[in-house]
Amino acid sequence: MTTVLAVANQKGGVAKTTTVASLGAALAALDRRVLVIDLDPQACLTFSLGHDPDRLPGSVHEVLVGDVKVEEVLLDTHDGVRLLPATIDLAGAEALLLMRPGREHALRRALAQVEGQFDVILIDCPPSLGVLTLNGLTAADAVIVPLQCETLAHRGVGQLLRTVHDVQAITNPKLELLGVLPTLYDARTTHSRDVLGDVSDRYSTPVLAPPIPRTVRFAEASASGATVLSGRKSKGAQAYRDLAANLVGYWDGNADLITFSPYES
Ligand code: ADP
Ligand code: MG
Repeated sequence: MTTVLAVANQKGGVAKTTTVASLGAALAALDRRVLVIDLDPQACLTFSLGHDPDRLPGSVHEVLVGDVKVEEVLLDTHDGVRLLPATIDLAGAEALLLMRPGREHALRRALAQVEGQFDVILIDCPPSLGVLTLNGLTAADAVIVPLQCETLAHRGVGQLLRTVHDVQAITNPKLELLGVLPTLYDARTTHSRDVLGDVSDRYSTPVLAPPIPRTVRFAEASASGATVLSGRKSKGAQAYRDLAANLVGYWDGNADLITFSPYES
């Protein structure tokens, strides 16, 4: 069975793309067959996995608005993960999809073509709550919300959670909110912990473990076309491996999802 996980937050710079790339590589290292989908017209995931979005013959855009098959545009990446890439054309998909009935279902329908070929599909949503993100959430079994642990990080979380509830009510009743994933986390300061405590109290959402520490290795990795998992040992890579093990344990039915309590330890 395939599990489709959307990574969504309408705020930019919270590590959505980094999470999809690194978690995808970590899941592949656990022998899962992984597909990652770039749903952002800025195509940062595509670029960070070593493909030039300006030189691609096809992308998720053609899959969503045209008759191109998913298989025809899939690419390989360094980490053994398959990629459904984006190009800037995807910016136009929004307008084209809006004119269609069932517009939120385009991605879900397309993914039926690769049914059974992947164990996990990760969706990198764009920094907006428009029709592309609605397609991501409608195609997904579960969603996680990366959250940068800084002041005012919670702004927008309420709106995102309302969107998740709307999707659950209207287009995808099976969508499960797994929780918030702390990113760019600085364990040395109490500030990161206070932000997380505030968010989990305010929205009564689980906070997933482990928090992803802030380390310079991520910027180096995305410039190299591979993820942090293929480089030297780093705390960040280990955190994504632990997150992958946490999710796999939960999905396999062997364990509860491990959550993080900001005020313990
Ligand atoms: P989003 O997709 O939400 O816009 P990105 O994944 O592109 O966010 O991350 C934004 C920036 O933060 C990128 O430059 C990325 O390299 C950097 N980054 C992401 N995670 C970390 C981390 N744990 N530590 C340090 N930098 C990070
Ligand atoms: Mg991104």
